[in-house]
Amino acid sequence: MSKFQPFGLSLASPELVEAAKSPRALRQTQGKRTGMLSRREALQFGSLILLLAFTDIAWGATILGVRVWPAPDYTRVTIESDGLLKAKQFFVTSPPRLAVDIEGIELSPQLKELVGSVKSDDPFISGIRVGQNAPGVVRLVIDLKQSALPQVFNLPPIAAYQHRLVFDLYPTEVIDPLQALIAEKERDKPASPPTPRNDPLGDLIAQQSTRPTTSSTSNTTKTIAPRADSMPANATKRIENTPPIPPTNTDRLIIIALDPGHGGEDPGAIGPAGTREKDITLKVAQKLRERINATTLKGNPMRAFLTRDGDFFVPLHVRVQKAQRVQADLFISIHADAFTVPTARGASVFALSQSGATSATARYMAQKENSADAVGGINVQTKDAQVQRALLDMSTTAQINDSLKLGSNVLGEIGSFAKLHKPKVEQAGFAVLKAPDIPSVLIETAFISNPEEEQKLRDEAYQDQLADGIMRGLLRYFAKNPPLARTRTRS
Ligand SMILES: [Zn+2]
Repeated sequence: MSKFQPFGLSLASPELVEAAKSPRALRQTQGKRTGMLSRREALQFGSLILLLAFTDIAWGATILGVRVWPAPDYTRVTIESDGLLKAKQFFVTSPPRLAVDIEGIELSPQLKELVGSVKSDDPFISGIRVGQNAPGVVRLVIDLKQSALPQVFNLPPIAAYQHRLVFDLYPTEVIDPLQALIAEKERDKPASPPTPRNDPLGDLIAQQSTRPTTSSTSNTTKTIAPRADSMPANATKRIENTPPIPPTNTDRLIIIALDPGHGGEDPGAIGPAGTREKDITLKVAQKLRERINATTLKGNPMRAFLTRDGDFFVPLHVRVQKAQRVQADLFISIHADAFTVPTARGASVFALSQSGATSATARYMAQKENSADAVGGINVQTKDAQVQRALLDMSTTAQINDSLKLGSNVLGEIGSFAKLHKPKVEQAGFAVLKAPDIPSVLIETAFISNPEEEQKLRDEAYQDQLADGIMRGLLRYFAKNPPLARTRTRS
């Protein structure tokens, strides 16, 4: 791949004069065209170079942006540039820090901005230092608050982005999402705590604190049980196809995985007024979480689990994996996409399809959503990602049938206050809906590309209406399809 982006400039043209004002444009032009210069052009080119010699030209790539995305899952640092950046990194454990030598750039104000862009509450990074290590080599030192597993990789230009050099810092100890859910439940405890009998999560915590620790490779079984005293600490394995739970005042936690679309480097669709899909999807998911967490179903507490609870990128297969790890009863992905024409409007609900899309729109939406990984930036070199994606191709007819039922209940409720794009649930090959054992739907709440619908999506009252509608839809689904009795195992 060429180091330089095509710029469409013709030498000795009026554009070149413009280019003289922009070292970046000139450099790109030079990179592509030097071999084709006529003598006259070369002379003209030379004079331009002289002109520019006084304006601090860097002969490497130009940094276009530096972004930091802190999150408990992992923190990402992105350096975007107009040319491919080569980086060599080495990790120092004590004190933990990542040093990266980036070739082909000079120290610039944007790069110095990095230092200021780290928030003090970043879970991983305590500071970033930059310095010119050698001519054309910038050394970046990322000081860490805790030991981390770094991944450094390049992303080719896509969508609005040019070349990206990405540093992902993962925790050395992976957060167990079920544990996180428990911690969250603890934080949200009401002022008058329920009796232990009615607090399955409390029971679970009690069990865990008394249970001897097991090796990380073993498949420990955690049970969310009606009574701590009725279950041994090393409880039974999960039983498939057990009958629906009886309507008692005890029993298990019902977990709904909420998946706010996009995030971090992937803004999702952007409305004509600049509204970013990723912000809307998170807000609606958070509102829906409030409703879910305040609900019990025949005595069983419900709990929402967000695949992301902040502005960071989560690959599609990781969203599914997270829902599987908490053994979610349902998976609801929330979106607000754009369409090719601003007049497109209305909400839609999608389920997975094993055999092609049910309409051209459904196919288009699935393609768009499935491109999120490329925009958000996935490290394709990790084997884990490939294995996970292969595993997700085992969708079942039962899952799809349940998803269609869930989808039509949700669509019916949204239809009570919003325009619908299509009156029935559509199907296509959405990667995020591929958990083989979890009924999964993707809701396009509205078209953010439609100016009127964009305004609605920004409106808090409308976001509440959406959350209420989805909540009613999933309760209607559960009324006819009660969640199965099961224990929750730790994967
Ligand atoms: Zn989307």
